[in-house]
Amino acid sequence: MRVLILGGTTEASALAQQVAGDPRLAPILSLAGRTVSPRAQPIATRTGGFGGIDGLLRFLHDEAIEAVVDATHPYADQISAHAVAACRETGVPLTSLVRLEWQPEAGDRWQVVPSFDAAAHALGTPPRRVFLSLGRQELHIFAAAPQHHYIARLIERPEREDLPPDLRLIQARGPFDREAELRLLIEERIDVMVSKNAGGNATYAKIAAARALALPVVMIARPHKPAGHILTNVEKAVAWLHGLAPRGV
Ligand code: NAP
Repeated sequence: MRVLILGGTTEASALAQQVAGDPRLAPILSLAGRTVSPRAQPIATRTGGFGGIDGLLRFLHDEAIEAVVDATHPYADQISAHAVAACRETGVPLTSLVRLEWQPEAGDRWQVVPSFDAAAHALGTPPRRVFLSLGRQELHIFAAAPQHHYIARLIERPEREDLPPDLRLIQARGPFDREAELRLLIEERIDVMVSKNAGGNATYAKIAAARALALPVVMIARPHKPAGHILTNVEKAVAWLHGLAPRGV
């Protein structure tokens, strides 16, 4: 069965590992191309946008796709809306791997805001030392609050030039452990962290470290993300695919 996995996440990579070599499935992983050198994958991979809903419809048709797994990032809402629309139109079954949100615990000092712009505003007027744990597409938004000293950790350098004036980049790829996150926050004398509510374990250590230091976190709420049949882990997605795939192949 021809399967399209919309990826770019830890879950998509884990699903690719699990279905690689499965005789009942012929999977293809699609990446947005946000990372110039993504991790190697054990299944066929394509990179770059499809060209909106029409482009995705064409791809589903040309590649004779029989099932789609949307394993995109919780903040990638556009590709998910396209997947829902294209699968509805073609009748191709769609499941969405949805990572559970982090929930605040005792000791957390979160200020939940609805958008990246609101996060920049929430930092306030007096200059602060801010740890930006965001993607490179979002850093320029903080140029609206240029009085702060920013430290941003990214996998790759941002391409845009309209970045906040006082910004230092740390290039690193997770996962990071709690001790390393504590060290970073203390050594850089961070006053406040800005984070997305990514969910999952891979990037949670910074949240635990902020709690240990009683550090405030400006938490950007998730966007509304359209979804197909919702599943919460990779094993269930494999079982879902096996339920659809013809037997005895
Ligand atoms: P998006 O706003 O949902 O998608 C924008 C466009 O990128 C889509 O319309 C589509 O282009 C293309 N696209 C996205 N994912 C794709 C995939 N898996 N395969 C092929 N094309 C894909 O998502 P985004 O711009 O990538 O990111 C939005 C937020 O998600 C940001 O906060 C970002 O930091 C976060 N995020 C994204 C990824 C990722 O891998 N995309 C990973 C980690 C975090 P067409 O309309 O041309 O098809």
